[in-house]
Amino acid sequence: MKTSVDVVVVGAGIAGLVAARDLVRAGREVVVLEARDRVGGRLLNAELPGGAPIEVGGQWVGPGQDQVLALIDELGLTTFPTHTEGRHIAEIGTARSVYTGRVPRLNPVALADVAQAQWRLDRLARQVAAREPWLAEQAEDLDGQTFATWLRRNVYTSGGRSFFRLITEAVFSAEPEDLSALWACFYVGAAGGLDALISTAGGAQQDRVVGGSQRIALALADELGDRIVLGAPVTEISWDAAGVQVSAGRTTVRAARAVIAVPPPLAARIRFGPGLPGDRDQLVQRMPMGRVIKVNVAYDEPFWRRDGLSGQANSDHRPLGTVFDNTPPAGAPGVLVGFLEGKHADAAGRLDPAERRSRVLTDLTGYFGPQAQHPIAYIERDWAEEEFSGGCYGAFTAPSTLTRFGTALRTAIGPLHWAGTETATRWAGYMDGAVESGHRAAREISDVLMTHAQI
Ligand SMILES: Cc1cc2nc3c(=O)[nH]c(=O)nc-3n(C[C@H](O)[C@H](O)[C@H](O)COP(=O)(O)OP(=O)(O)OC[C@H]3O[C@@H](n4cnc5c(N)ncnc54)[C@H](O)[C@@H]3O)c2cc1C
Repeated sequence: MKTSVDVVVVGAGIAGLVAARDLVRAGREVVVLEARDRVGGRLLNAELPGGAPIEVGGQWVGPGQDQVLALIDELGLTTFPTHTEGRHIAEIGTARSVYTGRVPRLNPVALADVAQAQWRLDRLARQVAAREPWLAEQAEDLDGQTFATWLRRNVYTSGGRSFFRLITEAVFSAEPEDLSALWACFYVGAAGGLDALISTAGGAQQDRVVGGSQRIALALADELGDRIVLGAPVTEISWDAAGVQVSAGRTTVRAARAVIAVPPPLAARIRFGPGLPGDRDQLVQRMPMGRVIKVNVAYDEPFWRRDGLSGQANSDHRPLGTVFDNTPPAGAPGVLVGFLEGKHADAAGRLDPAERRSRVLTDLTGYFGPQAQHPIAYIERDWAEEEFSGGCYGAFTAPSTLTRFGTALRTAIGPLHWAGTETATRWAGYMDGAVESGHRAAREISDVLMTHAQI
């Protein structure tokens, strides 16, 4: 197939689809090339026994995520609250706390330590997110250290350090040693603070999409119809001031402009001719993806609720460090969703599937009792094994990357425009950030094409 259009979009994740829809609405001819045989990218629904949908990729939305919430509303979709009633479980060090509210009943010295470190982190995050992160006053200092170094200097108790390791794994699916402290501050600030990132009610885990979050992508794809070409992994992009030629197997698309809406390390696998400027190339060499295996375990019913438990559990020593009740709105089957993140995903990914399942069930039994040993379904997805994701939840920067090459993250290069959640200014790494980036890339192109038309 050979086609000529105004804009070619690479990637039919939520960012690429939003960009494509905006451009079509602005009267542009658009083709979307998607490597997989489906749309949605990091959003994917699976089926529970009985047929209810369950997400194996991104799922929650929460207050402050205005862009994705507006899109959900516009597409005629609705949300429902994550189940939070009952007592949560927190295991930090040797202490186990079964508690209600936001704060586990742990050693008061460790809690005070967490509070002071969170206060410092939130203050820095506000300053960093108020402008481009690399322009922040402390940018050089923060980007010159890993988040682990920052934690060592600012968190004083072993309980406090364990807590921050746990939430680094839960939020970034990486270890504190992996990340630049500047990226950590930017990410926290882009979400409006640490509480917004880690809370269920009032935070990023508050609500779920009825029918599963992939419906957002499917509804966008319905509007775009046969403008989307599936099974078309882009391998080569030739470009000059006049436009682009994008090759995906036997499909070639010529266009005035391109939106490249794939995660940064995957954009690095595409061959560009001429090669991209050094700043962009160096940037994407320093942006790895996090690593997560997401597991949904289904039971006849949510048995933990009978014991007064919410299903929310965290542990700093179990590989399955974060668990939530993921039961569908109808109330059955009961579902616990757990995450193997960072180094726990490395280790679990090397096990054979039966051994991995057995270890997950051991952790769930440790949290919720022996009934957890008898699921009716076990659904897991190792995102590092996905060729066209390369890991999840998202990419982050290694130290000394944002300050040296951050300007290349969003800046268009000739006819090449960049989208994807990693390029967002608010809620980077989340669906909300992906939506923001899609709108921004479409606006950039509309402005340029309008100016050209006027000349
Ligand atoms: C397990 C998990 C849990 C998560 N939890 C949440 C959550 O609760 N809430 C939340 O908001 N976010 C969550 N996220 C993150 C969220 O899913 C992402 O931020 C969002 O979906 C990213 O969208 P995107 O369009 O930027 O990128 P992607 O969804 O990655 O889209 C990129 C697309 O490009 C395609 N592609 C890649 N390479 C090529 C190529 N060479 N040629 C053509 N196409 C290509 C891919 O197949 C993909 O479809 C989670 C993600 C995962 C995996």
